[in-house]
Amino acid sequence: MIKTNVKLPTDYSEADIIDRITAALPVSRDEIGEVTVVRRTLNVKDKENVHYDMTVAFCLSSDREESLLKLRKRVSVYPDMTFAPPPACLPSRPVVVGAGPAGLFAALILAESGARPVLYERGLSVEERESRVRLFTTLGMLDPECNIQYGEGGAGTYSDGKLKAGAPDKYKLKVLSEFVHHGAPEDIMYSSSAHVGTDKLSHIVRSIRERIISLGGEVHFAARLIAIDVSDKRLVGGRVEKNGEIIDFSTNDLILATGHSAKDVFELLSQIGAPMEARGFGIGMRIEHPREYIDRLIYGNADASRLGAASYHLVTHLPTGRSVYSFCMCPGGTVAAAASERGGIVTNGMSEYKRDGENSNAAILVSVTPDDFSGDVFSGIALQRSIERRAFAITSGTYRAPAQRLDAFMKGRADVSFAGVKPSYPIGVERVKAEKYLPEYVTDSMRLGLLDFDAWLPGFMYPEATLTGPETRTTSPVRVLRGEDFMSLTVNGLYPIGEGAGYSGGIVSSARDGVMCAEAILEKYKKTP
Ligand SMILES: Cc1cc2nc3c(=O)[nH]c(=O)nc-3n(C[C@H](O)[C@H](O)[C@H](O)COP(=O)(O)OP(=O)(O)OC[C@H]3O[C@@H](n4cnc5c(N)ncnc54)[C@H](O)[C@@H]3O)c2cc1C
Repeated sequence: MIKTNVKLPTDYSEADIIDRITAALPVSRDEIGEVTVVRRTLNVKDKENVHYDMTVAFCLSSDREESLLKLRKRVSVYPDMTFAPPPACLPSRPVVVGAGPAGLFAALILAESGARPVLYERGLSVEERESRVRLFTTLGMLDPECNIQYGEGGAGTYSDGKLKAGAPDKYKLKVLSEFVHHGAPEDIMYSSSAHVGTDKLSHIVRSIRERIISLGGEVHFAARLIAIDVSDKRLVGGRVEKNGEIIDFSTNDLILATGHSAKDVFELLSQIGAPMEARGFGIGMRIEHPREYIDRLIYGNADASRLGAASYHLVTHLPTGRSVYSFCMCPGGTVAAAASERGGIVTNGMSEYKRDGENSNAAILVSVTPDDFSGDVFSGIALQRSIERRAFAITSGTYRAPAQRLDAFMKGRADVSFAGVKPSYPIGVERVKAEKYLPEYVTDSMRLGLLDFDAWLPGFMYPEATLTGPETRTTSPVRVLRGEDFMSLTVNGLYPIGEGAGYSGGIVSSARDGVMCAEAILEKYKKTP
């Protein structure tokens, strides 16, 4: 197949794609076989001409492909993206810990190849998780083992379900096609703003679990990894605690996909001497504007009801060396109560597929690096915890989050009441100055960053916008060192993967890491003829 770029109106039809190809290239309509949209990005730079920039791949006969490629104009090869790992030939059943995107997809690939993986997840199934999350968001009753971070589907289940994929490769396409197969809309295969919403995600996650089980895999919930056994630098097994019962398991291959919030797992890794290093992350607050206001800022007069709620991505680099950036934007979504430890407050964002809520929110984060928390490998975790606990201590101790109006924050005041934009954090908010729980270098940088954002997107500094915090669990503050074979540098057979291990950030990249790790394991034991 060969690919080319085309521009299309927002109400394009399939026939328009072929028209654009034949207008731009010396090919006729009858020569073109199957057409695939590879990438579609909404271009809003010129508000009078909002359109899609698209990359499309299409089939031609091989000699016509060659002649077109020789022109070296506007066309290039679209490589084969087939994902086909070898069938399983493992000495023991592989064990996967953590049913977030990384663990679920690793288990799915292993199951599809016949390896019959065993998956342990400390939280509950999506069906049961729902009520635990609701108890927290309505009554402030936090279950430290099952919450917005922990449980089937991992941290991504209660999210906007943004499936940011970037340039396609065979692993991402495998991930996205599985999402579609299990219930996601088809446009996630190519849309740069693809999302499925929290409502669809839970069905998709359940369907993937059922597929793993139907292929001979096992899935255990409320099963927390409490020990990893190593002998002579080889992984030999481990232990999980399930409903008070201790279960030992033996395996040659243990995939650790436990996410960035499982501090106890980092301790386990430290006990077995797995090398790790501290890494930077982001700290800040969630900003909320009225959804329709953001739609107008981004789209101008274009029809938001057809384009979907608008999103933005803003970044600035300050002279101090810090970056300030918007993160995990949730158009038409709500601010999530994302704590997983008692006595700490954490915010994040989520939305439903329709993205039709009153507000649009995004995290506004300031980059922090290991220089900000110099100490041992866990000092980034200590910084996160201290902020989360301070936020809890200065509010009423009921998981109500500290919040400020944007204009009050800019003036360092907390005495201005909310008007116009109602903070959507579900447990409720209290007016508190951000300096009371965030380091000053974070609040100062945020102010400068917000001024830059307003210069680029005039009107972003909407005085009645609200800021709710703290947002601390943005990515893993620790990297578990591994080789190109996905294995820990010191323990043969131990595979630290996904966001917690420091190799991904987001649903698609974490799932992709899981797919690649499963393939590496299958390749390792591949039968040679
Ligand atoms: C509210 C929210 C919204 C988000 N929105 C988006 C979004 O729209 N798009 C996007 O791309 N990303 C989003 N993210 C980030 C995304 O969810 C993560 O990047 C992704 O889930 C990381 O995948 P993972 O599999 O590496 O880890 P996780 O998803 O964190 O999964 C780890 C799993 O391991 C389990 N576990 C931990 N310790 C143990 C143990 N000892 N024993 C057994 N199991 C254990 C946990 O319970 C958890 O289920 C969001 C995150 C949150 C919290």
